[in-house]
Amino acid sequence: MLIAGAALLATGCSSPPRNGRVGQPLPGTSGGGRTPEPSGTSTASSGSDAEEALRAWRERSNGAAGPGMGEVVPRAAWTTTGPIASLARPMGRIERITVHHDGMDEFDSYSRQDSARRVEAIRRAHVNLGWADIGYHYIIDPAGRVYEGRPTSLQGAHVRDANEQNLGVMVLGNYMRRAPTEASVASLESFLRTAMRQHRVPVQRVMTHREYVPTACPGDRLQTMMNQLRTSRAGLA
Ligand SMILES: [Zn+2]
Repeated sequence: MLIAGAALLATGCSSPPRNGRVGQPLPGTSGGGRTPEPSGTSTASSGSDAEEALRAWRERSNGAAGPGMGEVVPRAAWTTTGPIASLARPMGRIERITVHHDGMDEFDSYSRQDSARRVEAIRRAHVNLGWADIGYHYIIDPAGRVYEGRPTSLQGAHVRDANEQNLGVMVLGNYMRRAPTEASVASLESFLRTAMRQHRVPVQRVMTHREYVPTACPGDRLQTMMNQLRTSRAGLA
């Protein structure tokens, strides 16, 4: 029911980035279907470095990522479809991290199957917009599981005009009125701490979607949570 209701609206939080410079093409702007996300260099570069980093991160996260880090769910567990790498730019070095919610209907299922289905619905919606893949690099569900989204070797599609070197992490659900679950917040915090350390991103460059552009994302409640996490010594500060 959730997904049926969400199906038509399943685009995730992102309004499509429209500016050609770093954003992605408007759906339908290319005559024959998909326009490459950005023009430019081949996406083949540095994939192995990124994969290496991801593997190392995954090993750490399965062990010592800190309390709260949820199980990492590999991409193959939620979709059989890979990214269309030719439509994406290479990520390069990660310099910043941005937090989102999906902004669809409220969602608090702890079922892995429900969450996987929702992630896949968002991926499909994004691909139907002509994008390379789901816009986010990681997705966290209400149980705190961390789903691998778009490979980190590829630039994401989650903040209009600011996708460059920007790692996108999204919490499934809508947090305008409802507070995110404790499990998802604990996992997000642990994820952020790990990613900040790994990529040497200072807390000043861990932002939310609405801090870049006018949008409700990541919802008032998750925004408040992020404000606390970033200023608390026990959190990310
Ligand atoms: Zn967002």
